[in-house]
Amino acid sequence: MEGANKVSTDNKKPRVAIIGAGAAGMIMAIRLQKAGFNDFVIYEKGEDVGGTWRENRYPGVACDVPAHHYAFTFEPNPGWHSRLAGGAEIQAYMKSVAEKYGLRPHIVFGQKITSAKFDGTRWHINTDKGLVDQADFLVAATGPLHVPMIPDFKGLDQFAGRHFHSSEWPEDLDPATLKGKRVGVIGNGSSGVQIVSSLARIGADVTVFVRTPQWVFPLGNRFFGATERALVKTFPWIGRMAGGFFKWFFEHVFAEAVIHDGWQRKFLSSQCRRNLASVKDPELQRKLAPPDKPMCRRMVMSADFYPALQKSNTHLVQEAIERVEPKGVVTKDGKLHEFDVLVLATGFWTRAYGRPLELVNEQGKTLTEAWKDKVGAHLSIHVPGFPNYLILGGPHSPRGNFSAIAYSEAIVDHIMNCIELATRKGLRSITARQEAMVGFQESIDARLKGTIWITGCKSWYLDDNGKPENWTGTPGEFRELMRAELNPTEFDVA
Ligand code: NAP
Repeated sequence: MEGANKVSTDNKKPRVAIIGAGAAGMIMAIRLQKAGFNDFVIYEKGEDVGGTWRENRYPGVACDVPAHHYAFTFEPNPGWHSRLAGGAEIQAYMKSVAEKYGLRPHIVFGQKITSAKFDGTRWHINTDKGLVDQADFLVAATGPLHVPMIPDFKGLDQFAGRHFHSSEWPEDLDPATLKGKRVGVIGNGSSGVQIVSSLARIGADVTVFVRTPQWVFPLGNRFFGATERALVKTFPWIGRMAGGFFKWFFEHVFAEAVIHDGWQRKFLSSQCRRNLASVKDPELQRKLAPPDKPMCRRMVMSADFYPALQKSNTHLVQEAIERVEPKGVVTKDGKLHEFDVLVLATGFWTRAYGRPLELVNEQGKTLTEAWKDKVGAHLSIHVPGFPNYLILGGPHSPRGNFSAIAYSEAIVDHIMNCIELATRKGLRSITARQEAMVGFQESIDARLKGTIWITGCKSWYLDDNGKPENWTGTPGEFRELMRAELNPTEFDVA
């Protein structure tokens, strides 16, 4: 079967295939369009745009980065209904942006790219439904949080009620019907916390399994009424100011706190400790005390979680899980916790970076083989040996409590530099040199000292050796790096 969008006949402008129609893929597409590169296609495994906001439909799903900051800079939204927008509202925003920029005709929905092979000139792409295509550049905009991590709980398939991963909440399960029902939630990361807080409000009988307690920053929500929304619409600078304030707060307080031991770290730590101290029952407070330092893991943001846990319809279990039985979960102390529904808020395979797609270079080497000893990409984007494969949000890109949209926009600056350079100079391929990547990684490691990530914790930020796969500089430095012209000593071009 031939690809839905024909291979370009225009030799001057490269054809770009983007994997994923989430926020990052949409930014990539819009920037290509704005720069006059119209030969691009987005392959999307789902049936709509929106990525994480399309997939996550669990009760309470919301973005814990304020909405006026968590938006495309080129498409502010005066209509946000609350400071921390709900998942459905963000998804509606994503859809409206896709419509406005005419992205849909460029998107092939319901097709998952399963393999791509570089032949020295182009990437040859195959999808799970038998579609084939070719592209000069292949951009992985798959996001780090979309392959569910489901622990191998003995007996899980025997559970008599419904069970599912947090990102796979069944469309036909209305959370309101869970009022009075016994729901088990395994995990207390950002997803688990939002689910538990919401189910507690609905009146479900919720039990949360907390293996490792996490620090919680009490960021409260605030609803914007019709008058406030009308004001922002009439005076767009109000929305820009709100977005600007939160950008400053997240980039100069949260992002700086993780890399320097300065006032930001002290301020956030004290807020988390005060929040924990607000839990009245000393036994519950003790159970909720994390073993590590605030911000070593991605900070959980919630003003609702501790109040929810203090309601009579919520229960916290710290005992390890032994197995699952038809009636519920059995903990190591032999106790059976009976449930009607079991939610696995157990996180994601965060180091997939485009996989399980099988990426094969000209020499027949796969990406997984190339990363056998160490996952890495020059500037977080280019994998040596894999020409014209560009990762949005790759290893050592910024990750944390700030807007992923802001960073995707910065990374797209660099990718556009590559594509424009290739077009200007008639290049077939751009490949990062191995030594350039090693130098980049050394510069990251040189700044590890002083970061919160090396203080000891279990976190999806860390690699198998316990080293963070995060950007260790400031947000401003990352943007500067992304805006810079390509350094010819770092790349092989042909
Ligand atoms: P997560 O932070 O990785 O948390 C997974 C949870 O599952 C942890 O509490 C973990 O316990 C627990 N778990 C895993 N395996 C277990 C097992 N075998 N037994 C018991 N507990 C187990 O996953 P997440 O909550 O889905 O969040 C992932 C990321 O998504 C976040 O860090 C954030 O970046 C993003 N997110 C963002 C928002 C937002 O508002 N912006 C909302 C939701 C998610 P341990 O800690 O002991 O491993």
